[in-house]
Amino acid sequence: MNKLLHIFTFSPVQGFISNSRRLSDLYHSSLLLSTLTENLIKVIKDLNTEIIYPVLVEDGQGLANYPNRIVFLADKCICEDVIKNFQELWEGVYETVLRKVLDEVGISKEEKEKIEEQAKLHLENYFRAYCECTNSEEVKKWKEKLKQNLGKDYDDYAVAYDWTERKLGALKSKKHYEPLMDAYTYNGKEYPDGCTLCGERAHLAVDWKKLIENLQKQDRIKYIKHYLKEGERLCGVCLVKRFAFYCLKRQTFPSVHDIANAKFKEELKDFEQRHKDRASELKSLLQQYMGEEKPRDHLWEYNAELFDI
Ligand SMILES: [Zn+2]
Repeated sequence: MNKLLHIFTFSPVQGFISNSRRLSDLYHSSLLLSTLTENLIKVIKDLNTEIIYPVLVEDGQGLANYPNRIVFLADKCICEDVIKNFQELWEGVYETVLRKVLDEVGISKEEKEKIEEQAKLHLENYFRAYCECTNSEEVKKWKEKLKQNLGKDYDDYAVAYDWTERKLGALKSKKHYEPLMDAYTYNGKEYPDGCTLCGERAHLAVDWKKLIENLQKQDRIKYIKHYLKEGERLCGVCLVKRFAFYCLKRQTFPSVHDIANAKFKEELKDFEQRHKDRASELKSLLQQYMGEEKPRDHLWEYNAELFDI
């Protein structure tokens, strides 16, 4: 085996996914991790390598199926390049999401810069990437050792994989201590509490009540209004997770209520076409009940449970 076997991995994965409160958080965190792997495979492929695992599926239809591990062969050690590429991909993800979200929430330029700075503190070192490779000299030595101890002749690929995996395991078992010096304040000198989603970091130092109100006022972004609920205050990592659809370039995650009531909403659509007058009467009642300035364009834009009243 002349080429060097490489194994790349990154973490945390379980923690990133399980720190979720809503179905959309679970879906987005899982899809985000899978997309990071998918995009990294594409980058590695261009570095004159041979990917062994996982197999890239063209037009994968958004399934979050890629693991946090890539095994490939290269002519020389490219571990450092791969780690750098992964960091750049992750940086691209969170910078896109932060830019898009902070542009929409109607806060001042200074405040935006401060939050961006704090969010990056949470995000920059969130994922830790590892890559290890094994050269032919190491394969030879480990092969002899295995033969001595187990009395069996293993093939080069198995020996290289075993040795690389062991080196990777040793690297991953080192626990790095990286304190977050998060001293950001808001509304004068108020220190933020913990993030309501993960509880691991402080929430971003901004008046979330005002931010959510601003978000709800903006008509042009009504499709993401349901992404932040009253009382939610997120850290940088959880904010990126909640709004990950901005960089995944896929459809926004529909409200769970809408999915559950899809059939009813279909019928409402039908009703609206057949009974235009009754529909506008209903819309005007719902508008009064909701305290909105004008009725919405269609009946099905209202939450289905409102029709219970
Ligand atoms: Zn959080």
